[in-house]
Amino acid sequence: MTQKNTTIAPRTNGLVDLFARSISYLRLSLTDRCNLRCLYCVTEEESDGVLTKLTHNELLSYEELLRVVRVAVAMGITKVRLTGGEPLVRRNVMRFIRELTGIEGLDDVRITTNGVLLERYGRELYEAGVTKVNISLDSLKPERVAAITGVNCFDAVWRGIETVLTLGFAPVKLNMVAMRHINDDEIVDFARLSRRLPVQVRFIEFMPIGESSRWNADTYISTDEIMARIAALGELIPLEKGRNDGPARVFRLGADSVGTLGFISPLSHHFCNRCNRLRLTSAGALRSCLLHDDEVDLRTVLRNGSGDEAVREALLAAIRNKPEGHHLEERLRRSGGDCHGRMSRIGG
Ligand code: SAM
Repeated sequence: MTQKNTTIAPRTNGLVDLFARSISYLRLSLTDRCNLRCLYCVTEEESDGVLTKLTHNELLSYEELLRVVRVAVAMGITKVRLTGGEPLVRRNVMRFIRELTGIEGLDDVRITTNGVLLERYGRELYEAGVTKVNISLDSLKPERVAAITGVNCFDAVWRGIETVLTLGFAPVKLNMVAMRHINDDEIVDFARLSRRLPVQVRFIEFMPIGESSRWNADTYISTDEIMARIAALGELIPLEKGRNDGPARVFRLGADSVGTLGFISPLSHHFCNRCNRLRLTSAGALRSCLLHDDEVDLRTVLRNGSGDEAVREALLAAIRNKPEGHHLEERLRRSGGDCHGRMSRIGG
C-alpha cells in the first residue's frame, strides 16, 4: 500500500481525504438478501424473483462488523447507517443493533429499510437507540407497489410508517425513486403527503447502477423536472440545510405543510464535493464511492489474524482511494459507466 499524503488525524480532528472532505459517515450493508425484488435492484435474469446471494461465509459476521465499527469510531466516524439488501431480514439483527448502538462514541445510528418489517421491529429499534429511519416507497398505489417490488406489501409498509411516526422517530424520511413511465405520475401525490404528515418525502434521481435492468436515459427524470411538476401545487420554500439532511436540498411546500420535501440529485447536481461517506459492502469490501468499483478487501484483513492496526490501515486506504467525483451524468450522453456492482450488495 503506498502511503500518500492523507491526513490521518486522531478522533478530535476527524478523518480528512485527499480532497479535504471530512469523512465521518459509514454505511454498512448488513446483507445482500431482501424480501422484495425491486425492478431497479434485480438484473434481467433475476426478474423471475430468484436472486443470486452471498453465502453465509462470504458475509461479514456481526462480530466482524462490530470490530470494524469500533475501529472506525476511534478514527473519527460518528455516524453509521444500516442498509442492504434489507437490513431487517438478517437473522438476530436486533442483537447486533443493540451492540452497535452501545459502542462508545457512536451516537448516531440510522437505518434504511423497505418498511415491510417495521411494524414488527419499530419499537425495538427505537428502544435500542436508532436515531433515524428512512423508508423506501416508490408508489402510493398498492398494485403498483406490487408491480415495482414483486410483492404485495403496500399495507405492511404503510403500517410500518405509522408505527415509526407514532413512536416519535423524527424526521421519518420516505424515499421515492422517480422513474418516467413507471411512477412519475405520482410525484405530486408524494409531494402532497408532506402537507399532512410529519415526514420528509425525498425524491431521488434514478441512477444507472450496475446490472440493474431498467435504467435508461428516458426513465431518468432530473430533479429540475420533478421540482417543476411540484411547483404547480404551490410555493416551494427553501429551508436551511439541517444536520440530518445529508445530500438533500430541502423545501416546504407552502408555509402550512407539516412535513418537508427533499431532493437528491446524484446525477444532475451531484454532491461529490461534500461527500463524507464510506461504505462497507455485505461481502466485506470497503468502497469509498457508491458509483466507483474500486474497493479495499477488508474481509481478508479481518480473517487473516491481523490486529486492529491492519483494519485501521484498510480504512485509511479506502479513504485515500476516494475519488474526487463520479461522472455518472455522462451516462446520459453515452453508454458505459464506472459502477458494475449490485446495489443490494454495495448497500443503497
Ligand atoms: N432494503 C432497503 C430499502 O429498500 O430501503 C435498503 C436497501 S435499498 C438498495 C436502498 C435505497 O436505494 C432505496 O431507497 C432504493 O430505492 C434506492 N435505490 C436502489 N437502486 C437505485 C437506483 N438505481 N437509483 C436510485 N436509487 C436506488
